[in-house]
Amino acid sequence: MPDVTIAESLERARQRLTHALASAGRDGEDACLLAVSKTQPAASVRQAFAAGQRAFGENYLQEALDKQASLDDLEGIVWHFIGPLQSNKTRAVAEHFQWVHTIDRARIATRLDAQRPAALEPLNVCLQVNVSGEASKSGVTPEALPALADAVVALPRLRLRGLMTLPAPSDDPAAQRRPFAELRSLLEMLRQRHPQAPLDTLSMGMSGDLEAAVLEGATLVRLGTAIFGNRAPRP
Ligand SMILES: *Cc1c(COP(=O)(O)O)cnc(C)c1O
Repeated sequence: MPDVTIAESLERARQRLTHALASAGRDGEDACLLAVSKTQPAASVRQAFAAGQRAFGENYLQEALDKQASLDDLEGIVWHFIGPLQSNKTRAVAEHFQWVHTIDRARIATRLDAQRPAALEPLNVCLQVNVSGEASKSGVTPEALPALADAVVALPRLRLRGLMTLPAPSDDPAAQRRPFAELRSLLEMLRQRHPQAPLDTLSMGMSGDLEAAVLEGATLVRLGTAIFGNRAPRP
């Protein structure tokens, strides 16, 4: 997007979200935008921040830590970890992020809980669910979700906020909605099971399927290319 500034594409993304919420008969404040800044330079994050964006999503730990270090003057920025999470990364994630969207096994949750620094608020977490049962290897199965949620709710340094999914891309709006509808009903199930937990988050929808996700109740849509343009290949 050579002639479009980040401020402009961010404004377009906001309008797109507002329009999608209105079309779904939902309140304009019902969902928010997570700016996915993976592979984008710190300067781009800074521009989006200057245009009012506060929540940023990163997938690759080292890249994220480097970026955070050069942006530590940005007060009020909120970092979400949305990439695959292995045991050897949990400590840095527990120390440097406010949210994690990709918990799919109890072992990772237990480590994050133990490693979350006492001086920080509990870590907000979403469980990643493999609803479409597609090729993707990550995500807990719907069958194993209740047991994982039970384990996470019991961890004092984690705050279970909801569910996340990353379905296989599709151009068909009806097919796009199916996994999102399933995620929504799984969240309903968890709300009944854990009425005390602050389960208010459905992290679903990206640049290609935001509208379908919003129709099915998304509260947080994760937009990368729609805000920052195409990603360069990873170095
Ligand atoms: C890259 C990524 C996104 C953003 O995807 P776009 O198609 O660029 O909007 C959202 N969620 C996750 C988990 C991602 O890895």
